[in-house]
Amino acid sequence: MTANQHKIYQEKSFWLQDYGHYKPNPALDTDISADVCIIGGGFSGLSTAFEFKKINPNARVVVIESAIIGYGASGRNGGFSMKLFGLEPEITALRWGEQKTIEAHQYMIKAVNHVQNLVHEHEFESDYQHTGMFRVAYSDRQAKRLSKTYELFQKLGLDGDMSWQPKQALAQAFKTDKFLAGMYEPQTGLLNPCKQVRELKRICLQVGVDIYETTPAIDIEDSRTIKVTTPNGRITSDKLVICTNGYSHNVPSVRLKNHQLPVWTYQVVTQPLTPEQWDAIGWYKRQAFEDNRQLVHYFRPTADGRITMGGGRVAVAYGKDMDKDSHPKAWQHCEEHLKWIYPQLQDVKIAYRWGGPTSVNLDMTPEIGYLNTNKIIYTCGCIGHGVSLTHLNGKLIAQLLSEQNSDLTDFWIVNRKAIRLPGDILSWCSAKALTGALTLVDKFEERGL
Ligand SMILES: Cc1cc2nc3c(=O)[nH]c(=O)nc-3n(C[C@H](O)[C@H](O)[C@H](O)COP(=O)(O)OP(=O)(O)OC[C@H]3O[C@@H](n4cnc5c(N)ncnc54)[C@H](O)[C@@H]3O)c2cc1C
Repeated sequence: MTANQHKIYQEKSFWLQDYGHYKPNPALDTDISADVCIIGGGFSGLSTAFEFKKINPNARVVVIESAIIGYGASGRNGGFSMKLFGLEPEITALRWGEQKTIEAHQYMIKAVNHVQNLVHEHEFESDYQHTGMFRVAYSDRQAKRLSKTYELFQKLGLDGDMSWQPKQALAQAFKTDKFLAGMYEPQTGLLNPCKQVRELKRICLQVGVDIYETTPAIDIEDSRTIKVTTPNGRITSDKLVICTNGYSHNVPSVRLKNHQLPVWTYQVVTQPLTPEQWDAIGWYKRQAFEDNRQLVHYFRPTADGRITMGGGRVAVAYGKDMDKDSHPKAWQHCEEHLKWIYPQLQDVKIAYRWGGPTSVNLDMTPEIGYLNTNKIIYTCGCIGHGVSLTHLNGKLIAQLLSEQNSDLTDFWIVNRKAIRLPGDILSWCSAKALTGALTLVDKFEERGL
């Protein structure tokens, strides 16, 4: 990898850039064999590798990453280790029914706990804080929808740690008059995603996983054994796991083209705020918050006293195109929105801007399944809510690979019937139409603000 290529990778997010010096593992340069080969060096791929090695210490496990560890969404996200499954509980309940919504929520509780335990057990230095998160409404219409969501959680008995937050409580906590109502969940976490994914790399290496960076899979052959071809070496393995998230439609020679499409979300981060600026906005407990828009905004403090926030605008690409990491209008929108909530921060400068692809499927529900035979497992469709989910999915996939049965492998997203996307043109048009419609709903619900 050239120095310039490395610089391009590191510039893909504030977190990657802020991480400082990073030495990737060398690329694969010879033919090797493995029990399990995993494509994708994000939370999903590395969690799978680590958990599989825990169950099968003598197995040879290989992870290949086309760029560097954390290059994908795992090194770029907001770092909310949260319980939201799919897009919204209402959508999950409508499509899958109440029982499956309950099971999905229980899975997400386990996922958040799993991340917290992993961080503590392995002493991850990923700035993990178990601070909880709010969901807030700016308008009466948004508040009404939020109270329906809260009622659904109550009806399903899932409101355990949740509480309804009136305007005065929110104004006290956040020193803004923009929040009309909210919901609070204390049992969620915040982390630095780039540090987290590289701590996962550290523990993978400790248990003997072989990791090759700058090593894209350029061909996959599924015959008696699986052969994964990379530019300078081939991996022959018994089993293969494809953990390529928003890039999955471009993975060669396997039928994943119509499983998901990448949808980009964009983020900005401020300079570190001064103690006076923090004082001016309250936010004393430094929890995360999201709003209740259709095209949601998400906000959180960083360990070094900045605010990072994102959302509000998304982008979709056509066909194989993955060149959508830059979106000046989305960044401007983020900055304006932050300063709309906090006019106190009018003079604060934005220090970094970035974006990244999430994996979205047609029914907005995560999926884990087999391709062809039980030798190839894929995972995708985490929408924008994959931080905790992908960590636990890794444990689930490791159990599937080991032919173990457990409450995890019984989770209904495994081998579920998914509705496939139509071809490129229809998928792109539908995604554009949907994001256009969601933008209109937000405009309608925020009239007069
Ligand atoms: C800006 C942003 C903010 C987000 N915020 C949150 C949040 O706050 N909370 C939350 O829960 N979720 C959030 N998400 C979603 C979350 O980040 C993802 O769901 C999660 O990181 C997905 O992890 P992954 O390992 O499955 O995929 P990725 O991290 O995307 O990893 C896939 C990897 O596969 C590699 N790859 C692709 N093709 C090949 C190939 N042919 N050969 C080898 N390697 C290949 C890629 O380079 C990439 O590194 C956000 C996403 C984005 C983009």
